[in-house]
Amino acid sequence: MLLSNARFLVTQDAQRTVLEDVDVRIEGSRIARIGRALPRIGDEGILDCSQRIVLPGLVNAHTHLGMTSLRGASDDKELASWLADVQRAEHAMSADDVRASAYLGVAEALRTGTTCVADQYYLPEATIEAAGALGMRALALRDFFTAHEPGLDAKRIGQLMPDAAALPPTVRVGVAPHSIYGTDEGFLRAARAYASAHRLRMMIHVAETRAERAECKRRLGMLPVEYLARIGFLGPDVVLAHCNWLTKGELDLVARSGACVAHCAQSNMKLAGGSAMPLREMLEREIPVALGTDSAASNNALDMFREMHVAALLHKHHYWMGDAVSAQQVFDMATLGGARAIGMEDLGSLEEGKLADIATLDLTDLNLMPVARERVVSHIVYAANGMNVADVIVDGRLLLRGKRFVEDAEVLS
Ligand SMILES: [Zn+2]
Repeated sequence: MLLSNARFLVTQDAQRTVLEDVDVRIEGSRIARIGRALPRIGDEGILDCSQRIVLPGLVNAHTHLGMTSLRGASDDKELASWLADVQRAEHAMSADDVRASAYLGVAEALRTGTTCVADQYYLPEATIEAAGALGMRALALRDFFTAHEPGLDAKRIGQLMPDAAALPPTVRVGVAPHSIYGTDEGFLRAARAYASAHRLRMMIHVAETRAERAECKRRLGMLPVEYLARIGFLGPDVVLAHCNWLTKGELDLVARSGACVAHCAQSNMKLAGGSAMPLREMLEREIPVALGTDSAASNNALDMFREMHVAALLHKHHYWMGDAVSAQQVFDMATLGGARAIGMEDLGSLEEGKLADIATLDLTDLNLMPVARERVVSHIVYAANGMNVADVIVDGRLLLRGKRFVEDAEVLS
């Protein structure tokens, strides 16, 4: 497949180069060539990108797609009362309801330019099926919340994990103890050991609220990250979701461990978190930061363009600094940061040899005018929304073309 004559190509390479009027050749699942006026090969499929910004597909580093049907079910509440509403609604959902939610979530993510999600849910099979059927890339992490699953103990982790041999080619699995308060030390240690033995990635909710931090200190005598460090849970294969309430000492522990943070600005703001994640202190320590929408029950969308926009604004507002975080830094989090978080570093940039996970934005949309090369990243973060996404390619397969899903996921080859 040839993406022909891209008006702009945002490479996200080491120099953050934005190219103009270039072609991109995809062979199989990877980017084979990037260059001007590449020769046509036989009857290869051509995607005209002369009115497009071509960018790496976005990575949503923390979500729960099985909850998509709970969008709007509980609003205008703080986390504890919202969670009570949502958990009540979840208990009334059948496995089929969760599957339908996951299909809706995958479709919304793809439609808005997300090509990969890190999804944490107790029925990962739903996301695995939906991602496989619709062609999206996913890290499907099995969520474990011991109080919610009678009989769940550490010995059952292996039995409850999805069958790794039966996964679609674009899906991997991981292990996600819900949180410190949702499990216990024995379970966290066992999950850590299982993930290490099977070389799987891990995810956990950490320090989402001030109350959670205070409760951890009261019950365990340590702050959340201190506790996770003490029991040997942290490592470069761990994604810590939220991390809103960390001390400098905890930030140093995260930095030393190599763990990644998934920042969920909109979900935290909607649930009245009361502060902002210490982003600048994380970046100063070179902690890898990715962005996540969290679920549509708290966001209430899965649109990563909206997520980038709000994350950038939140920190300018919070720090009283216009340059607290730049558009380029936020875009890095949604692309390269996400790739780092899920452990797939051949994603996140558009370079020869990398996987062909690509989104395009439609430059005929009024909210992206006027455009110039030096404004492209600004438009991506501050002006665009997911409905400006025109085309989406995952693993070399064209899934969305001209804002419409491609039937039978055609392969333009
Ligand atoms: Zn979450």
